[in-house]
Amino acid sequence: AALVPARLRVAPSPTGDPHVGTAYMSLFNLAWARKTGGQFVLRIEDTDRNRYVPESEEQIFSTLRWLDLGWDEGPDVGGPYAPYRQSERLDTYRPFVEQLLADGHAYLCWCSGERLAALRAEQQASKQAVTGYDRLCLGKTREERAALPGFSETPVVRMRIPDDVELTFDDLVRGPVAAPHPDDQVILKADGFPTYHLAVVVDDHLMGITHVVRGEEWISSTPKHALLYRWLGWDVPAFAHMPLLRNTDKSKISKRKNPAARLMWFREQGYLPEALVNFLQLLGYPPADGEQEVSTFDEFVAGFDWSKVNTVGPVFDLDKLNWLNGH
Ligand code: GLU
Repeated sequence: AALVPARLRVAPSPTGDPHVGTAYMSLFNLAWARKTGGQFVLRIEDTDRNRYVPESEEQIFSTLRWLDLGWDEGPDVGGPYAPYRQSERLDTYRPFVEQLLADGHAYLCWCSGERLAALRAEQQASKQAVTGYDRLCLGKTREERAALPGFSETPVVRMRIPDDVELTFDDLVRGPVAAPHPDDQVILKADGFPTYHLAVVVDDHLMGITHVVRGEEWISSTPKHALLYRWLGWDVPAFAHMPLLRNTDKSKISKRKNPAARLMWFREQGYLPEALVNFLQLLGYPPADGEQEVSTFDEFVAGFDWSKVNTVGPVFDLDKLNWLNGH
């Protein structure tokens, strides 16, 4: 049967030198977009103003272009759903926050940062089974809440997560996955910016994304996102959570511990872009016929199938990259 043209995206946050994971995610998203004759979107998720690094966006563009992992729509090339930078979409998110508040799916929370930190410390010390926000503000007016300690003038908005929230979902790569029960997640911050959870759902829906392919660190977020889709009356996209890239000691690859976590490092070291793409492909996907390790992007796309994606954290073995670089 002919494949339905899919829309996929990569959604990096411009928080510093791009991480090698951004290229890895782009590769798998792009593969399905190309295989189905669909589109690949680049969206910049810059709602965290504390971690925002201005040069980082240009570095994301230039390293992904160097690898020839180009996008059909994005902040620099435009597209029908522009703008593709979340900081330029604040007016887009606001009505959905209002709607969730009006429908009773969200509420205002005036708890101060100090109160939340103290609550966390207390929960950790007592090893409580149920952790997270204790709903002090739920059902209270501003006045009622202001009479209690730990009050902050500027509220955030939280999702009201039901006790019977559906925690399992079907993952394209992993099959049925169960996530832990979430607490009442913040969706709008005191600075008026949405959090990742709200922005990602609104944008993926409005941009027509059919497949959300991202790292496994987001598995625990997916039930919250599924709730938001349901509350807003939207179809839930397909989800695939890729295994995280790991150091040889199995720890998660981080820029702090491994220079090769920086995507720019590979260009600085003079690696061939084709070799790095081939390497990233092998980290998430078995070689063709079980042994043909050297392959082009087009060969990879031709044979691509979600059911074959690895679920176990691939080890980042530079000897393998060096070998590919010589082929
Ligand atoms: N902005 C998130 C990140 O930097 C995107 C996660 C997702 O793809 O939903 O990883």
